[in-house]
Amino acid sequence: MIQASEFFQVSCPGGHLVRVPVGLADEELVCPQCSEWFVARAAESLEASEDRVERAAQQWLWVAVATALLLVVTGLGAFLAGMLG
Ligand SMILES: [Zn+2]
Repeated sequence: MIQASEFFQVSCPGGHLVRVPVGLADEELVCPQCSEWFVARAAESLEASEDRVERAAQQWLWVAVATALLLVVTGLGAFLAGMLG
């Protein structure tokens, strides 16, 4: 998620991390270190990728919780079946 901060960070084609003012998102910029022109896509910024990682981690947490719940329900079912049978 890009917060209300005034800059986001994006890699130039040469791999330099460039701080880009939010106002210049998705504009063509020149890297101050290698003078390479590139489009500073906000969607490819460091902040956006960190957000993706965070969301993926949350999804895994939900999968883990759902799996645990399923195991509990299955175990309870087996326990009840054992009690009855
Ligand atoms: Zn560069």
